[in-house]
Amino acid sequence: MNKVRVRYAPSPTGYLHIGGARSALFNYLFAKKNNGDFVLRIEDTDIERNIPGAEESQIKDLEWLGIIADESINKPNPKYAPYRQTEKLDLYRKYAQILIDKGLAYECYCTEEELEKMKEEQLSRGVKSFKYDRHCLNLTEEEKAKYKAEGRKPSIRLKLPANEDLSFNDLVRGPIKFNSNDFGDFVIIKSNGIPTYNFAVVIDDHLMEISHVLRGEEHLSNTPKQLQIYKYFGWEPPKFGHMTIIVNEKGRKLSKRDGSIVQFISQYRELGYLPEAICNFLFLLGFTPKEANREIFSLDEQIKEFDLVNLSKSPSMFDNSKLKWMNGQYIKKIDNNRYLDLVGKYLDKIDYLKDYSKERKEEIALIFKNEITCGSDIINEINAIFDDTLAFNDEELSLLSNSKSTLSVNTFAKNLETISDVNKETINNLLKESQKEIGIKGKDFYMPIRVLLTHKTHGIEMYNIIDILGKEETIKRLSKTND
Ligand code: GLU
Repeated sequence: MNKVRVRYAPSPTGYLHIGGARSALFNYLFAKKNNGDFVLRIEDTDIERNIPGAEESQIKDLEWLGIIADESINKPNPKYAPYRQTEKLDLYRKYAQILIDKGLAYECYCTEEELEKMKEEQLSRGVKSFKYDRHCLNLTEEEKAKYKAEGRKPSIRLKLPANEDLSFNDLVRGPIKFNSNDFGDFVIIKSNGIPTYNFAVVIDDHLMEISHVLRGEEHLSNTPKQLQIYKYFGWEPPKFGHMTIIVNEKGRKLSKRDGSIVQFISQYRELGYLPEAICNFLFLLGFTPKEANREIFSLDEQIKEFDLVNLSKSPSMFDNSKLKWMNGQYIKKIDNNRYLDLVGKYLDKIDYLKDYSKERKEEIALIFKNEITCGSDIINEINAIFDDTLAFNDEELSLLSNSKSTLSVNTFAKNLETISDVNKETINNLLKESQKEIGIKGKDFYMPIRVLLTHKTHGIEMYNIIDILGKEETIKRLSKTND
């Protein structure tokens, strides 16, 4: 087999999305698994839709995730450069001319308005998908000159053969059937001289010696068009695999406007997610590991595990709570310095801690290392403890009003008055003794105290809560049941 060379080819029309990041990751894993190259190519030919800064941010976000390209605009291999499509427009025109010279492509002078009319006319005849009617296929030189004189600029269309089998064996889905009759002659170079995606991608994948194309399902219907171009040039196409769509919890295809899911990698970074947790989560989004129930995989383990046959054929559900859980698992495992780095900027946003020393802030932050699911969570966690203005909900009120609860809270508060040194040992002893004293144990005893102090039914150890609030504030809050 030739060297494995795969690519991730974002268009700088937006920032790195979870779908794109997953494509990049799977290509990266496939390359690394096979000692191949992972290429990052910028497909920026849709000029009107390009967004300033999107290219840099795509690259930065991929690097943040640890998906490092072997070749890119910043790390070009002279053999394959340039890596940005708009830097080689002449090259695409040269290849389009080769097709024109062979009679396999032709100039089209139809205007947008004429094409729109053609579409409407076909629609009114009940034609489902529009096909160019080949108006310009056999224009004479005089006709072309006339159009040019009118100021029209030609696009170039591929002349599709009739009834050509364009089926292929998809690496993920198996045999996929297409025929050239499914399409009309499509544009390969627009009238502004810029190639369309379907044309540029073939020229690039061929010249960059790409061996496998792993991309999203939305490109499935582009593949036969690309295969036709390979055929016309007599080039061997790469192998194609199309990854399934990502759906939300309701089973609907993720749209970039779906507000129920955070969709851009930079947003996750802002929220304080860890890149390795995101990669691990993306890895399981459409990939089934051999050990069915295993969920935690480092990037190296993902490389070892990766195998195209285990890519799923059915849509992958984006499970938000799983991502949070996974990030929480990774947060627990990072060392304290990295943890403090992660939460540092959020600690600065907590008003309650404004007058605390850095050391004390960090001490408090460390208490939540096993609790938070992302860095910014720490704001809510800490605010919830300090903020005594939150109202109790009905469930909490009913819990607090039962007699066992009142007794537990009062007893503990009374006993807390007697100790001068609040530390782990004294508090834990006090909790034990208070339970013994009144014969109320476990949940019945702890829950009302916890709810009263934190408005939560679970969380950090009781000793830590009291440590954060201080003895006086704790007693004040516990006395609330008596109000
Ligand atoms: N530029 C295309 C996109 O962003 C890449 C498609 C492909 O991988 O061929 O969707």
